[in-house]
Amino acid sequence: MAYDDDNIFARILRGEIPSRKVYEDEHALAFEDINPQAPVHVLVIPKGRYVSMADFGTTASPAEITGFFRAVATVAAQLGLDRPGYRMLANHGDAAGQEVPHFHVHLFGGRKLGPMLTRVQAD
Ligand code: 5GP
Repeated sequence: MAYDDDNIFARILRGEIPSRKVYEDEHALAFEDINPQAPVHVLVIPKGRYVSMADFGTTASPAEITGFFRAVATVAAQLGLDRPGYRMLANHGDAAGQEVPHFHVHLFGGRKLGPMLTRVQAD
């Protein structure tokens, strides 16, 4: 899948759409999710043009990958989530329900988060 320069997170990175920024460095931007699923729900995105985890994990440089995941850890720590704990999640593709085609990690915290997945009925 080719990268779409008009996806919503590309537009947030360019400053064309406002976001509630919580962290930024050379590799990553973190901002509050517009539709939070927990008291803390932050999205962390790399600055490069990567569609999803498969794209990022295979084509980003080692410096970008290291920088990005260090930023995720930094954001979680700065938000005070390390000790109570938090969940990080990345949706890849249709089966996972990925809505925005720019790789992103969700950080959830601020309450007990419950089971990892809601059990769904088999077809
Ligand atoms: P996905 O389903 O792709 O893993 O998650 C996309 C997330 O982006 C959703 O949690 C959704 O609420 C969030 N989102 C979609 N559009 C915007 C927006 O314009 N601003 C912000 N801050 N979050 C958005």
